[in-house]
Amino acid sequence: MSDCLFCKMVAGEIKPDVVFENDQVLAFRDINPQAPVHILVIPKKHIATLNDLSGEDAALAGELLMSVKAIAEQEGFSEAGYRTTINCNRDSGQEVFHIHLHVLAGRKLSWPPG
Ligand code: 5GP
Ligand code: ZN
Repeated sequence: MSDCLFCKMVAGEIKPDVVFENDQVLAFRDINPQAPVHILVIPKKHIATLNDLSGEDAALAGELLMSVKAIAEQEGFSEAGYRTTINCNRDSGQEVFHIHLHVLAGRKLSWPPG
């Protein structure tokens, strides 16, 4: 998708602060962090929202979660803990319509979220 911000990162047209990458997944630091660690994990394939996942994306969805686990170990916050969130559509406040997992760590996170 040529007009998608995160597709531009996958294509190398915009260069985020990358923390993890493999053939299917890119992860980079959020530009407006909500915790000491705030990483976004995206599929390289353009999928707008969680609602747009299809059956053929099942393995990719698993790969996104496995990437979160790998990033938590790599960045050293797996034991202390972290939260991963996917916002979907209006009521969640989703702003970028290329599916992404937020990974928040580095402070005590309150529950329930706002
Ligand atoms: P959403 O609200 O869609 O779940 O989250 C979008 C996230 O993308 C926000 O946390 C926002 O700070 C982040 N974001 C928006 N534009 C950019 C950008 O240009 N670079 C980076 N690294 N993050 C961005
Ligand atoms: Zn995209």
